[in-house]
Amino acid sequence: MTNALLTTLAQRLRELDTGGLRRRRRITDTPCAPQLTIDGAPVLAFCSNDYLGLAAHPQIVEALREGASLYGAGSGASHLISGHSRAHALLEDRLAEFMQPVIPSARALYFSNGYMANLAVVSALAERGTDLFCEALNHASLIDGARLSRATVKVYAHGAVDQLAALLAASDATNKVVVTDSVFSMDGDLAPLAALLALCEQHNAWLVVDDAHGFGVLGQRGLGAFEHVGIYSTRLVYMGTLGKAAGVSGAFIAAHDTVIEWLLQRARPYIYTTAAPPALAHALLTSLAIIGGPEGAQRRTHLNTLIAQFRAGLRLRDWQALPSDTAIQPIIIGANDSTMAAAATLYGDGIWVGAIRPPTVAPGTARLRVTLSAAHSSAEVTRLVDAINRLQAA
Ligand SMILES: *Cc1c(COP(=O)(O)O)cnc(C)c1O
Repeated sequence: MTNALLTTLAQRLRELDTGGLRRRRRITDTPCAPQLTIDGAPVLAFCSNDYLGLAAHPQIVEALREGASLYGAGSGASHLISGHSRAHALLEDRLAEFMQPVIPSARALYFSNGYMANLAVVSALAERGTDLFCEALNHASLIDGARLSRATVKVYAHGAVDQLAALLAASDATNKVVVTDSVFSMDGDLAPLAALLALCEQHNAWLVVDDAHGFGVLGQRGLGAFEHVGIYSTRLVYMGTLGKAAGVSGAFIAAHDTVIEWLLQRARPYIYTTAAPPALAHALLTSLAIIGGPEGAQRRTHLNTLIAQFRAGLRLRDWQALPSDTAIQPIIIGANDSTMAAAATLYGDGIWVGAIRPPTVAPGTARLRVTLSAAHSSAEVTRLVDAINRLQAA
């Protein structure tokens, strides 16, 4: 008897190969940094989300070591049993304080990662009968949260404020929740946050924002997308990740005390999982101090200089750079095979840039996704720009 499931899976895998969609992992032997060693060879990488270059920062590494000495390796249980350590509590207090200019009197809840934080917030805030308004390019974790929630989901097109206004006006649900990324992870552009918040106020809806690519990087003090655009509100439910610009691991929700208390009581991705190691929370205290201090400001300034340099240097013929001012700088190529070929040529030059294909992006919009970091030097960005321009000239 043939094994039906294995036959099906093998067939699906062959389809991935035919479509140029099989994905592979490269093994890195060195800490996260622009300069990596892979298979013994040096590589200059432009693909991490370590926007401030904190992932291997000596003070944060030392804090992680100190955290392990103070609290051990594992938490041993979920937060509501016995896994909630002093380090977690201190981090939540610090995060709440940090975000208060954006969400007045916010309280914060620490999660093991952003994927779970998004599942938690969307599935716990929206129930049967709630209308959930989701931006078309939302991150997979927000989409999965919407599926879990049993709410009525209405999707509006990318950036389509007018369409969202019409959907909100037509809704007679008591509870309405608008859910969006702030910085779109594969495009690098910003959601129209001021217009979205105004609509939420007008229609008595809540605004859930995933600021995975904004927290730490955007805003004068690194408070993220809302500081960047200069708006604040108690109607916001804010998700920031701590494994990208913050350089460690985890995520948090900052929101009104009642929202946070409800998540703590009812969000299954918060309750039914072992608390992250306390040492991570301890290390994050140092990371937050750097983000909010003069060094963080310096790193953001340097990053913005590199972003401007990259954009000004590109000479593209057939490919298209998207209008992004953030550290995410995609170059749309279109077909999967030419995107993979471009990435392979760059890799041959010792430069690693991510190649993004469907289903992560729409068919026909495969792209190189360049991400810049404050850890890059201007000379390294020049090397990247020259290599991309050479590809287009060839
Ligand atoms: C990375 C990311 C997440 C998930 O965060 P993790 O901490 O990596 O699980 C959620 N939303 C967006 C937009 C992201 O880019």
